[in-house]
Amino acid sequence: MDSDKQMYDVDLDCAECGKHISQLPFQPSGDRPVFCSDCLRAKRQTRAPRERRMYDVDLNCAECGKHITQLPFQPTGDRPIYCMDCNRARRGDA
Ligand SMILES: [Zn+2]
Ligand SMILES: [Zn+2]
Repeated sequence: MDSDKQMYDVDLDCAECGKHISQLPFQPSGDRPVFCSDCLRAKRQTRAPRERRMYDVDLNCAECGKHITQLPFQPTGDRPIYCMDCNRARRGDA
């Protein structure tokens, strides 16, 4: 079995650093920017550990009554708030 990845010959510049790119592991579609392998790696690293902002709240779950101290969104007050377990269960059978 051939373990080499197929490379496509291209004549492009990296959309980030402008470095010339002569080969890509995929066929560029033309409708999205192309990045060199260095910039791709840097982008992947900065995007990976995405921290979610949490809001401190003092509420009780509308389903099971469990105390909720943090939410990943700001509660608006016009709709019931559910704890993580109930949220997951509700999403599961929706
Ligand atoms: Zn680059
Ligand atoms: Zn609950």
